[in-house]
Amino acid sequence: MGATGYFSHRDFWKHEMGAGHPECPERLSAIEDRLLVTGLDHALERREPGLAALADIELAHGRMHVASLRGLNDMLREDMNAGGPTHTSLDPDTMINSFTWDAALRAAGAALEATDAVIAGELENAFCAVRPPGHHACRDKAMGFCFFNNVAIAAKYAVERHGLKRVAIVDFDVHHGNGTEDIVAGDERILMVSFFQHPFYPEGGSQSDAANLVNVPVPAYTKGMDLRELIEMMWMPRLEAHRPEMIFISAGFDAHREDDMGQMGLVEQDYVWITQRIKDVAQRYAQGRIVSCLEGGYNLSALSRSVEAHLRVLADV
Ligand SMILES: [Zn+2]
Repeated sequence: MGATGYFSHRDFWKHEMGAGHPECPERLSAIEDRLLVTGLDHALERREPGLAALADIELAHGRMHVASLRGLNDMLREDMNAGGPTHTSLDPDTMINSFTWDAALRAAGAALEATDAVIAGELENAFCAVRPPGHHACRDKAMGFCFFNNVAIAAKYAVERHGLKRVAIVDFDVHHGNGTEDIVAGDERILMVSFFQHPFYPEGGSQSDAANLVNVPVPAYTKGMDLRELIEMMWMPRLEAHRPEMIFISAGFDAHREDDMGQMGLVEQDYVWITQRIKDVAQRYAQGRIVSCLEGGYNLSALSRSVEAHLRVLADV
């Protein structure tokens, strides 16, 4: 089979939301360092993605949302040229700087180019080491460190532009992917399975009634073994029944026990197990096609070790 792609770009380091913000460029540096130190870098095919086309972003987002982000970006650049502020806040923890617009377009671009390459058979699967993340971005709203929903855009793109009939989104971030749910709920071509700490940011998720959503809310302090049982029981039969032709992963690593952003108890071996189960389904129904995109994960050491574990399964090394 083909190689595992690794999509990243220096623009992802330029988007930053102020000193001390946990969703920081150092997250990507920690991952890069880990790839080099472990030699895993050699097993990956590196690619630098371009910017997503606005028409593709609008497969998942309203035109007004896209236009207002662009407008904010333009205003910020003008203000900065006039000696004004360097950041604009969209919500208490979501800020843009003058590089955010390009980084967000390129993060979506990574997911789209990875999708193209995997469907073309150039790559077996791919990991997009991107910032900003995406799974809280709703059709018409940026929130929770997210602007454009990279995974939802790519899933819509796979069905709309490539004509796939069934795809799946697997979200294992500690937070509920409310934005993805907002965008794909009711679209029977896309099955979304997720677990998330509950009750917790961004609330919701436990009441969703769309038939294409498999939400598994779990209490704080849930450990890997319990979660694996829930995944076998709740996710796997639905994934098997859906027979996805491609699988997208919202790969957040903030359910790790060392990550203070959440209170769950996963370790690297749990990410190995989850990734392997997803890969099993992909190999059975989807010719192995997986595109995984970085979402959360804020403890730099735990994040880099968990991404390594995830990539080792994807790349089979
Ligand atoms: Zn998260």
